[in-house]
Amino acid sequence: MNPPLTLFIDIDGTLITHPIDDSDQPRLLGHWLLGLMCELAARRAGWTMARAEEAIRAVQHRKVWWDWTDYLRRLELDAPAFWAQAEAASRGFLRPLEPRLREKLERLSHAGHRLCITSNNPSSGIGYKMRLAGLGRRWQREHVDRVLGTDAVEAMKWDARFWTRAMDLAEADPGDVVVIGDTWCDDVLMPYEAGVRRFVYLDPGDRVATIDPAGAAVRRASGWSEAVAWLTGGVLAESAAARLNDSA
Ligand SMILES: [Mg+2]
Repeated sequence: MNPPLTLFIDIDGTLITHPIDDSDQPRLLGHWLLGLMCELAARRAGWTMARAEEAIRAVQHRKVWWDWTDYLRRLELDAPAFWAQAEAASRGFLRPLEPRLREKLERLSHAGHRLCITSNNPSSGIGYKMRLAGLGRRWQREHVDRVLGTDAVEAMKWDARFWTRAMDLAEADPGDVVVIGDTWCDDVLMPYEAGVRRFVYLDPGDRVATIDPAGAAVRRASGWSEAVAWLTGGVLAESAAARLNDSA
């Protein structure tokens, strides 16, 4: 059995997949959620699209590390109603990465590991995507220890400072952290810069070969079953130790 670990889990490409083209969705400033907000503000209170766009730009001007709730407040939209509508609309193009994801993640929390979400999404966007991955609000309250989105960490994952701050916020030591994700730079190289040495790389198998950084244990997994087996099966510590010995 592995000792309890702090697992930093990515969202896009790790818990959720985006297999269907959504380019027909109305967008504003590159975001379809903003497009939907403007549409709702127009319908509900007669806002013109220009007025809604101006309000959104005012939020962005004031706040670099915004959350979607900042826009909802500015546009005077009801948050639960908005998210219900956003979820219904996005079920068509955002799907759980794989079946039985909830059970697989529960095996990790039942094994004593702390589940933290590390994402280039802001907090409320993380909650929304988790719900679309089949991990509802109650499940999140029960199983997720920290939500480390851009608004909380005030950095992006492709910056090593994200990882240093995320570990501070989660009160986690790099030696107790495993980062799980599908983007080599964001989920391996940058946390490595911040001192993390253990990783699960969910490798879709169609990317260029990657070379492990010195002294790192990078487990390439084709899916969550393999990742969970590794994280709960007692081989994690051994493989990390073997890797560290190899590089010594
Ligand atoms: Mg990802």
